Amino acid sequence: MKIDIHELLNKSEIVFRGEEVISLLEHNLSDQTHDYKVNVEGKVTKQGNRYLVQGTLSSTLKLLCDRCMKEVEYPIHTELYRVFSSDLNEQHQDEDVTPLTESSVDLSDAINEAIALEIPMKVLCKEDCKGICHACGQDLNVTSCTCEKADIDPRLEKLKNIFHPQSEE
Ligand SMILES: [Zn+2]
Ligand SMILES: [Zn+2]
Repeated sequence: MKIDIHELLNKSEIVFRGEEVISLLEHNLSDQTHDYKVNVEGKVTKQGNRYLVQGTLSSTLKLLCDRCMKEVEYPIHTELYRVFSSDLNEQHQDEDVTPLTESSVDLSDAINEAIALEIPMKVLCKEDCKGICHACGQDLNVTSCTCEKADIDPRLEKLKNIFHPQSEE
């Protein structure tokens, strides 16, 4: 998303609103990307050689549950903040300043970075997600399986041996 800053010659600020489509790596399928639509709202103000962009971003990401790999909708509301400068000296002194090379500010990187920062380290479809059985691959939120029961309760395992003694060597 680019915002034309020509108007700041005779205005104190530019208010903008729009949509940006960004491409993010899937958080636990790192070889795949997913496109997301981000609602962007904000303003650009001029302070000397600097152009200050402040705004808000909102989007809904689709993340995969860490335990069962089910898709989880994850709403995001975060802030957009970036400083651009056309002054070369200032660009060298301050790493947080983005160089301005044309008569518009390009917000695409800032939007991408701000949204990527909001992706949580751990994603669960629900607090007590039971996940997928490692033995048979069934979703244990939907169904239960016998292999899982044997793992969970060692007392049951003992009973099983009493009724079905392991005779074969
Ligand atoms: Zn889950
Ligand atoms: Zn199982």
